[in-house]
Amino acid sequence: MLGEGILKGMAETAKNFAGSFVSVDRLTTVEYPEQRIPTFENARVFPFLVYDGPDWAAGLRCVACQICEKECPPKCIYIEKSQGKKPDFVGKPQFYPTRFDIDISVCMSCQICVEVCPFEAIKMDTEFELATDNRFGGLLLDRQQLAKSNEYYHQIHPTEATEVDARLDAEKEAAAAKAKAAAQAAAAKAGEAAKAASAKPAPPTGGED
Ligand code: SF4
Ligand code: SF4
Repeated sequence: MLGEGILKGMAETAKNFAGSFVSVDRLTTVEYPEQRIPTFENARVFPFLVYDGPDWAAGLRCVACQICEKECPPKCIYIEKSQGKKPDFVGKPQFYPTRFDIDISVCMSCQICVEVCPFEAIKMDTEFELATDNRFGGLLLDRQQLAKSNEYYHQIHPTEATEVDARLDAEKEAAAAKAKAAAQAAAAKAGEAAKAASAKPAPPTGGED
């Protein structure tokens, strides 16, 4: 029926309006900003960069691969990659972004940057109070403004962050096991080479007269 949805919506509003005089459960609004409804775990606003450890600059997971920059539909990510590498928070040499800006006046919160990142380095924030009277530079967030700790990620998206940590831990364990196996194979090879060298007959030292 034409207009059925509108009538249903108005009936719900009327039910809540009348019910709010007798039941707090029918109060569907809060007096923002004094009162706030907790954000949902799967809420998403704009992206942020995850870092591990106490130092945001040293702990950024981003390795400046620029996949997110290429895939972002409105092209609002701007990355400059470092010339050299520096150790990340686990001591592995990695490239890093010398510049990582997101223009949140253009970002459409699609989350594609998050989905394409192979390093779990960029996630969606739930922070929405970002209004500013500086409509040019004020909405261009740099890497320091975008950097937020893994602990913060756990606070806003606990289920997802726990899954990511488990995945990263499994990857780290697999890499450590592979490195250990390679080191053992190299040591065994070196041992065999030394054994073969010692088993070889010694070359004659010279004729007897
Ligand atoms: S959420 Fe979408 S629009 Fe925003 S930076 Fe990521 S890819 Fe670009
Ligand atoms: S956030 Fe992820 S996809 Fe984007 S540059 Fe950094 S590592 Fe690459």
